[in-house]
Amino acid sequence: MTFSRRDFVKTSVLGAVAGGVAGGAISSLAQPSQQGHASENDSAKRPIIICANNGHAYVEAAYAFLKSGGDTLEAGVRVVKGPEDDPKDDSVGLGGLPNEEGVVELDSCCMHGPTRRAGSVGGVRNIKNVSMVAKAVMEHTGHVMLVGEGAERFAVDMGFPRENLLTDRSRKIWMLWKEFNSDRDWWGPGIADPHWQAPAPGSRPRADLLRDRIDQLKHRASDLGIEHEFLLSAVRRVLFPPTGTIHCSVLNEKGEMSGITTTSGLAFKLPGRCGDSPIIGAGCYTDQDVGSAGATGSGEENIKVAGAHTIVENMRHGMSPQEAGTDALKRIVRNYNGDMNKLRFMDIIYYVLRKDGAYAGVSLWEGYSSGNPHKFTVHDGSLRSEVATPLLKGFSQDWPPFPTIPEELKKDSVYLK
Ligand code: ASP
Repeated sequence: MTFSRRDFVKTSVLGAVAGGVAGGAISSLAQPSQQGHASENDSAKRPIIICANNGHAYVEAAYAFLKSGGDTLEAGVRVVKGPEDDPKDDSVGLGGLPNEEGVVELDSCCMHGPTRRAGSVGGVRNIKNVSMVAKAVMEHTGHVMLVGEGAERFAVDMGFPRENLLTDRSRKIWMLWKEFNSDRDWWGPGIADPHWQAPAPGSRPRADLLRDRIDQLKHRASDLGIEHEFLLSAVRRVLFPPTGTIHCSVLNEKGEMSGITTTSGLAFKLPGRCGDSPIIGAGCYTDQDVGSAGATGSGEENIKVAGAHTIVENMRHGMSPQEAGTDALKRIVRNYNGDMNKLRFMDIIYYVLRKDGAYAGVSLWEGYSSGNPHKFTVHDGSLRSEVATPLLKGFSQDWPPFPTIPEELKKDSVYLK
């Protein structure tokens, strides 16, 4: 019997949802706070940096640089370069999870408000700091966007070193993913291997299948040498190929703004796939007259609503940062006619900063998994993490058990009120 992993995940998850196997994490629409963040009202401060939470450790130093008169885009680069350099952060730069061929491909874009310039690179291999390469495209070419081999050659010409970006840990997770897909290819233990197991018969209950599959994956991850404490995380990355990115928007005392986004994109993507992160107006957009916004999460969905640009335009027309971001999220929900059985397979966080220092972090779901709400980092004199305001109540990747979708949330338009 042939049984592909894609079919398995799809049928298992949807089966679990349709059968109401377990859970209950998704229960109703989230109620956005009426007031939004304090800084939306009367205490907006400058300078201010907001970014995805994986940049937290690097914001203090970038803020000091900004306070001392440093350029807003350079401050943003100082934040996002930290995760790019960190081999343990498998969402960006060195150690990023690779494409389906085991090659790390990185995307980035930036906008510099004061000079109203932009730079971008997509699908770059072998160069760790693509945020700086995007900035270099802006500063040293007459173009806005370079991709693939041309972008890599440009980076080398600009003095960036070529290096192997695939860490051993990311390689092992990729190998686990390949083995999970191995029902139809030659990867994974062959029939002669003592660990080989016949594909489970399709007649068994879906939830059982999933539990078995998770157990098998844990054993394989252990055999591949993945650290014990990282086993479940590795399995999770295989079942739900993660996205991972950092965006940073910056405003200085003079009112100058910049934004920057960098990513290794969606794990195990097709070679050449570019998400939203290198797209000016999707993964990042800054308008010196209005504000700056950026995104992390499901890139394909964000491209279709031109998220960052939509948000900045919404603010131009009078919406608060939270309203502007929530409106973009509603457009994503609208693209699926409110079908929660599809929407729960995507998630997105928007980081929104208005020119007066008002800001918001908004997300489609509360978080990827229960107990871990989406957070973003803010520094406006004090460094902190804040919980993003979700449009929908529930967690997009809660497993196992998978949450039941309440009937009322399956109906079209319930979210549009
Ligand atoms: N948005 C990125 C992409 O789709 C991934 C992410 O933000 O995690 O490439």
